[in-house]
Amino acid sequence: MTAPHPALAATDPELAALVGAEERLQAETLRLIPSENYVSQAVLEASGTVLQNKYSEGYPGRRYYEGQQNIDRIETLAVERAKALFGVDHANVQPYSGSPANLAVYLAFARPGDTVMGMALPMGGHLTHGWGVSATGTWFHGVQYGVRQDTGLIDFDQVRELALKERPKVIFCGGTALPRTIDFAAFGEIAREAGAVLVADVAHIAGLIAGGAHPSPVPHVDVVSTTTHKTLRGPRGAMLMSREEHAKALDKAVFPGLQGGPHNQTTAAVAVALHEAAQPSFRHYAHAVVANAKALAEALLARGFDLVSGGTDNHLILMDLTPKEVPGKIAAKALDRAGIVVNYNTVPYDPRKPFDPSGIRIGTPSLTSRGLGTEHMAQVAAWIDRGVAAAGAGDEDALLTVRAEVAELMAAFPAPGLPV
Ligand SMILES: *Cc1c(COP(=O)(O)O)cnc(C)c1O
Repeated sequence: MTAPHPALAATDPELAALVGAEERLQAETLRLIPSENYVSQAVLEASGTVLQNKYSEGYPGRRYYEGQQNIDRIETLAVERAKALFGVDHANVQPYSGSPANLAVYLAFARPGDTVMGMALPMGGHLTHGWGVSATGTWFHGVQYGVRQDTGLIDFDQVRELALKERPKVIFCGGTALPRTIDFAAFGEIAREAGAVLVADVAHIAGLIAGGAHPSPVPHVDVVSTTTHKTLRGPRGAMLMSREEHAKALDKAVFPGLQGGPHNQTTAAVAVALHEAAQPSFRHYAHAVVANAKALAEALLARGFDLVSGGTDNHLILMDLTPKEVPGKIAAKALDRAGIVVNYNTVPYDPRKPFDPSGIRIGTPSLTSRGLGTEHMAQVAAWIDRGVAAAGAGDEDALLTVRAEVAELMAAFPAPGLPV
């Protein structure tokens, strides 16, 4: 294999070797982490440009540095594409990532000590939705809702009761382990009744929304927060979107409230990803992600796996391995040795500890980007089944056999930037 990064290999062979090893890992494995993806060659190229070299504090037309003729046009392009794609009045494309984007939301709408509300982390929420170990749960009084134990679906009676009792300044909806469609309208009604600012954190599902495979939160919420690197298939970054009335507060919170100079190379790559997401092929991609997840869920159910909420409406499946008598972490580590990359995850009402929980979380954005279709999902389920069984039996040979089979299939489905 030729070195794809000649300057890097010449300057720093040690680092180049590590990058090469990662490229092979991403090429040969079946990556099922639902928050991960493969960006296009165009996005890769945009994020590796000389835009790295610029400082651009401020916003287009209102910068604190000269020499912004091109940067202003690039950021404006990203903003206009985000507005068109998601149908919003305002977009800020500068947040460094999802967590700082959410911090900016708090800075815009709450003061330390205020009550904020979100889904509990072990129920499928995100750290930044007011969970205790996060700054958002330390600087604010975080109250947390969950899902119903019988259905695995968001408990809207609890959401409403909590919101009316606690009167939070900000309510977050969305999460990291929610396999079902989020009812943004129901959240909107509750937030209006409680007088709270409602934020849809669609980090996981932004690509599905852009591609028409999940309903949009835009008509129902005050702010949309999203990362750009999950189903949206852009570079690592984030955006905040809103109606015009919240534009100033959000912009001020991002800069100068929280950040300095925006990462222009990322802004450019976000613009490219948004352009790609506006194409008909991306609508096809978003629907294929969901079709693959549904097919995979069906195949897993047929093999006796217990899926939280009984299946999926989106890109993500949360499996409770209790009936298989294999803890999530043991299963995840065994699957990793079998070339299937997943993460161990708590399931709602998990009797085990977060660092050693009962479940694993899987998703289809990456495999769909590589071109796998519903016809491959029975095979994927069979590998997972064999991997989990081998984990329980301590059968390392079986894991290596699966690893070889996985590598053989994946070799037929190349991804941008990876060796073939
Ligand atoms: C991934 C994610 C985030 C955080 O994004 P980072 O870029 O990792 O900081 C925030 N909220 C939700 C719902 C997420 O899924």
